[in-house]
Amino acid sequence: MLEKFWLTHSGYYRVFRNILIAGGGFERVRMPFLFGIGLHSEHGPILMDAPFDEDGPANMGVLASNFLSATGLSFAPKWSVPARLEEFGFHTDDVEHVLVTHLHGDHTGAMKCLPNATFHLSQAEWDHANDPPFVGRTFGEYCPDDYASLGEQMQCRDDLPHLDDGEGLDLFGDGSIEVFSLPGHTPGHCVYRLHVQGGDTIFYAADAAHTLLQASGEAEPGLMPRQFTHDMPKANEALASLRRFLEDHPDDELILCHDPELGRQVIDEGPVLFGE
Ligand SMILES: [Zn+2]
Repeated sequence: MLEKFWLTHSGYYRVFRNILIAGGGFERVRMPFLFGIGLHSEHGPILMDAPFDEDGPANMGVLASNFLSATGLSFAPKWSVPARLEEFGFHTDDVEHVLVTHLHGDHTGAMKCLPNATFHLSQAEWDHANDPPFVGRTFGEYCPDDYASLGEQMQCRDDLPHLDDGEGLDLFGDGSIEVFSLPGHTPGHCVYRLHVQGGDTIFYAADAAHTLLQASGEAEPGLMPRQFTHDMPKANEALASLRRFLEDHPDDELILCHDPELGRQVIDEGPVLFGE
């Protein structure tokens, strides 16, 4: 049973709104690097991806991390995955399961800090991430140094139901966590549906959409989401699947890792707690 779930952040990047949302204007907004920590009654703390370690975006290489820092990225070691785990009363050694959505560099920096973790992900994502295109590797989109040596910790699956199938793979066999395949943003992007004790259902869609406005169809993605999307037609199909699913499940809480409004809430008001 998933007893609790916290949504927190590992830093943010100030960007013009129109970089995230087409026609969004020149107001500066904070694009967060959100991630989640769940507490399972049998499996202990469960991480949703593992954004940054104490060195922040340095995992993305000199070029990308210097560029990001010079153009508005905010990071503090207290926002790293190890520090966040401590904040909620856990240690990196306690983490036995990480639910990986995809392996972009802003989701993988702390993977090496988790020696006891099994990383759940799709085979398609693992294959692509270990042979990323040159440009993606150079600019920190994929950072194989974060995970290439962790092969034995990977639980790669090629049998995940697509979101259109309606029912995901029951990861722990207790109905607490469903996994779906939803490729587009990356070739093996996964989304998770988390059933938290007390009734909250979290739909953790990560980067399947970059903003809640994009997810609801009220806005088109700006330059950055397009730049970091592997297959735009497929990503649009994924978005259509996401909208259909959410129409059928209107009470699900949608989590997108880079949405500025969710970011504002988490950065200004602190972690959001689901469950008792
Ligand atoms: Zn991504």
